[in-house]
Amino acid sequence: MSCSRRNFLTGAGAVIFTTGVAGTAVLNSRKTLANVEQDGNKLYGMIHDETACIGCTACTDACRDVNKVPEGVSRLEIIRSEPMGEHPDVEYRFTRKSCQHCENAPCVMVCPTGAAYKDEKTGIVDVHKDKCVGCGYCLAACPYQVRFFNPADGSADKCNFCRDTNLAQGKLPACVESCPTKALVFGDLNDPSSEINAVLNNQVVYRDKVHLGTKPKLYKIPKQKGEV
Ligand code: SF4
Ligand code: SF4
Ligand code: SF4
Repeated sequence: MSCSRRNFLTGAGAVIFTTGVAGTAVLNSRKTLANVEQDGNKLYGMIHDETACIGCTACTDACRDVNKVPEGVSRLEIIRSEPMGEHPDVEYRFTRKSCQHCENAPCVMVCPTGAAYKDEKTGIVDVHKDKCVGCGYCLAACPYQVRFFNPADGSADKCNFCRDTNLAQGKLPACVESCPTKALVFGDLNDPSSEINAVLNNQVVYRDKVHLGTKPKLYKIPKQKGEV
């Protein structure tokens, strides 16, 4: 199938296919989003448009700066693929590795102290640093391998959509603000008029490891050389 058939495919509902990135992927429509609505609450999610991403890592730098993430660990990585095509016609695919803010979050389920939790007003999965005892269960349970121990305080850490920094100041997440190509879209999946829903309704997207039942809220627009 080709990218030019996006509208037909998204209108058809959820279609499963396999990508070369990580696990099973799903094409989503508004029909699937309607299933995750929560009364009155926001449900924040993000899209990484791999077709627009140039791998500049401005987003990772901004995240580190705004959230005071120490060197040696990271809340956000941009992973470069193997070369696609043959010299001189070579392209790369850049994909985002960060917390997926799972609706069914394994990290929350295994935490013995309640330090790992999902904020019901926003859908953001976050960490109560004062409750974290450093057992590492959440690091082991996360299928996306995006958690780490913050060397500054020893607590489990990860992306929280800048909940206590940029979001608290009424701004977009730092990664979104900093992206020069507008490859990142952030917004409320419960708001039918949000930009994120507009993009989801008009693009083919996939999510990583959906077969695990985690219901991740990080969507990706796939970049493929030639046919998808
Ligand atoms: S991606 Fe990992 S850290 Fe983030 S909510 Fe899911 S299980 Fe938890
Ligand atoms: S939303 Fe904030 S914490 Fe998450 S990756 Fe982007 S900049 Fe980092
Ligand atoms: S800032 Fe934007 S273009 Fe640069 S690596 Fe991040 S998502 Fe890709």
